[in-house]
Amino acid sequence: MTTLEVQHHLMRIGGEDVDSDRHMDIFDPSDESVVATVAQGDASHIDAAVAAAQAAFEEGSWSRATPQERAAVMRRIATAANDAVEELVELEMSSNGATVRQATGFHIGYALSHFNYFADLAESYQWSRPAPMSSFPTLAQSTVHREPIGVVGAIAPWNFPLLLTLWKVGPALAAGNSVVVKPDEHTPLSILAFARIAEENGLPKGVLNVVPGDGREAGARLASHPGIGKIAFTGSTEVGREIMRLASGTVKKVTLELGGKGPSIVLDDADLDMAVDGVLYGCFVYSGQVCESGTRALVPASIHDQFVERLVQRAKTIQIGPTRDWDTDLGPVIDGKQKARILSYIEGAVADGATVALGGSTPSGDGFDKGHWVEPTILTNVHNNMRIAREEVFGPVLVVIPYGDETEAIAIANDSEYGLAASIWSSDNERALNVSAQIQSGSVWINDAHQINCQVPFGGYKQSGVGRELGPDALDEYTETKVVHLDLSGGRDRKPYDLLLSHADD
Ligand code: NAD
Repeated sequence: MTTLEVQHHLMRIGGEDVDSDRHMDIFDPSDESVVATVAQGDASHIDAAVAAAQAAFEEGSWSRATPQERAAVMRRIATAANDAVEELVELEMSSNGATVRQATGFHIGYALSHFNYFADLAESYQWSRPAPMSSFPTLAQSTVHREPIGVVGAIAPWNFPLLLTLWKVGPALAAGNSVVVKPDEHTPLSILAFARIAEENGLPKGVLNVVPGDGREAGARLASHPGIGKIAFTGSTEVGREIMRLASGTVKKVTLELGGKGPSIVLDDADLDMAVDGVLYGCFVYSGQVCESGTRALVPASIHDQFVERLVQRAKTIQIGPTRDWDTDLGPVIDGKQKARILSYIEGAVADGATVALGGSTPSGDGFDKGHWVEPTILTNVHNNMRIAREEVFGPVLVVIPYGDETEAIAIANDSEYGLAASIWSSDNERALNVSAQIQSGSVWINDAHQINCQVPFGGYKQSGVGRELGPDALDEYTETKVVHLDLSGGRDRKPYDLLLSHADD
């Protein structure tokens, strides 16, 4: 049972609430109840939002405000959003199935502290820097400026709706851009609430627009819209390829945060108590619906059986259940389609020769008759060539792959089209650092997992993405670079014009 009243939520375009002929139902994945309805935007609403964003950008009260003024408003927004934290947690957990612990700490807590980080960045970012004085071919002083792009499109997934949207909205606003957000169909509520809070606390109308809608319709229009200068996307690699194609029509700047198939590499000198819990945490938190999850455990063949036994024993303590119960460790997966997909991956793996060491099905008993539940599942007898080891399942499924020596572990870790995150478990820091240097991955955590720190860049090698979010350079992705060259040569005679005009004075 959810505690939210079924309310109808409107789009936010140009500072106005906008309804539509079509509505979408928003479901609670834990019991399939309808928690809200939302106006469904289409291409015409995206066009209106882009026009409003362009008008706000040209009007200039945000785009031409000083970075300090923008930072002050952003901090005020973050404080007001913090005051509304319970509402945001409720909106998010009721639509994406996060547990209350997960939604409070990670989903909303991180989202707001990261937004504050982007406010700080507005002030610390190097907006202009002098280049070294040049004396050839003429004496000149150049200055490198960073300027806002204009209108930025942001397309977000359902797993961390506010967090991953603010990873885009935060730097875009800090840089003075206007933004149009197309949230995921499952989870538009928290960013709609955030946009309202932002406008109530000083963000000019039209700077942040939110248009819920279908990806192939509203999302595709946003990704291809000629009025958008940059598109920032988080989602599946499959849709990421399509976003790239759609953005190519007007050669937009693109950042893509896509899928993963992370290795958790357990070396033979690992502290096994820490490694066992770390591998479980790396894979099963939020039912494995995290892009940087470690879904392939690479374990020395010499300790494989012992390691699997310990994994299974510890995993049995994970409590699946009501998301609002503070004791619950795991909630449901996002929807029925995704549940069926996860179960079919497990079936396929078994058909390919894998053994189910734990789980493999839906939990039974009270509370599981409705909703989309999948047990934490551990599969052994898996080879890295099997489909279950190559494709992103996006569910609570861990495969354990034995290896002979360190060279083989590194080869298996890198044998993937993805390269988002990896973990290494070892009691020898020097050895682990040496292994980390050989791993093709945007993040490598030694004796840790899921370390998302807003002060360092996050993103993927290979098909896990293009560009980086977070970190001190995050605003690079949301600004244009302009070089202004100031001639100091002191006159025409000191310039190389005779390259062209050698006969002009004959
Ligand atoms: P998805 O790719 O299906 O959808 C993501 C967004 O794209 C949604 O808003 C959707 O409406 C929109 N969309 C769908 N088709 C579109 C189209 N043709 N044109 C424009 N927009 C379109 O992803 P999902 O299932 O919501 O999220 C799960 C995926 O996201 C996983 O693959 C996961 O790894 C990835 N993810 C990556 C990161 C990261 O930072 N690398 C973080 C979280 C999730």
